Amino acid sequence: MVTRIPLIAGNWKLNQDHLQAIALVQKLAWTLQDGKHDHAAVEVAVFPPFTDLRSVQTLISAERFELRFGAQDVSEHESGAHTGEVSAAMLAKLECSYAIVGHSERRQDHAETDAIVGRKAAAALRAGIVPVICVGETAEDLEQHGASAVPVQQLRDVLAELPDAGEIVVAYEPVWAIGSGQAATAEQAQQVCQALRAAIAEGRGAEAAEATRILYGGSVKSGNIAGFMREPDVDGALVGGASLDAAEFAAIARFR
Ligand code: PEP
Repeated sequence: MVTRIPLIAGNWKLNQDHLQAIALVQKLAWTLQDGKHDHAAVEVAVFPPFTDLRSVQTLISAERFELRFGAQDVSEHESGAHTGEVSAAMLAKLECSYAIVGHSERRQDHAETDAIVGRKAAAALRAGIVPVICVGETAEDLEQHGASAVPVQQLRDVLAELPDAGEIVVAYEPVWAIGSGQAATAEQAQQVCQALRAAIAEGRGAEAAEATRILYGGSVKSGNIAGFMREPDVDGALVGGASLDAAEFAAIARFR
């Protein structure tokens, strides 16, 4: 049986300039250290805006903090005439471990389709970066099709763009739960995460499915994380708002 190391990931979205980022990472690392956080048992990662990544990298490396970090998006292109894009190779040079792809805010604001999300994830993998593939249903999807159908189909379509090998992380984020204060129940999250694991098994084989970490995201707080983490197919959380408060985010990482 494979042991999946839980991942608590903080998506800062469009918040924190590079100076604020340094303060937040420092505070987070110290808070985790004070709480004797075991990084081998629970991985903690932050996802700052692009402009913060160099400062975050320098700080983490200089202070030997055991935090990981990643980008909130990545280009599907390697280089060339793509103004405003940032390539996976550029992120790899900055020692990013992860790149979020297909966050619902990018799907909504930038009309990103599953095919685009899949190509972004493939670009990340080519550069040695683990894509955190976000899927999730809207409130209307939930009403019309139930919770699992849309996220499972999104994941199948993204996986179709990927090579069979290479580590991925999947984040189940019901759109109605993001930033709403209304999280899914642990049972709802488990049901969908289980269905997503089955879709990974279909596309990449049972062994890969067993090894892949699947996160829940949507209004996660220190008060509700324990319930999610008790579910067998939930391997961590993608946290938005609550990741901007170092003490609260550290408390989420101490979910046990
Ligand atoms: C997110 O943006 O990925 C998210 C889960 O946000 P929040 O935790 O604020 O709901």
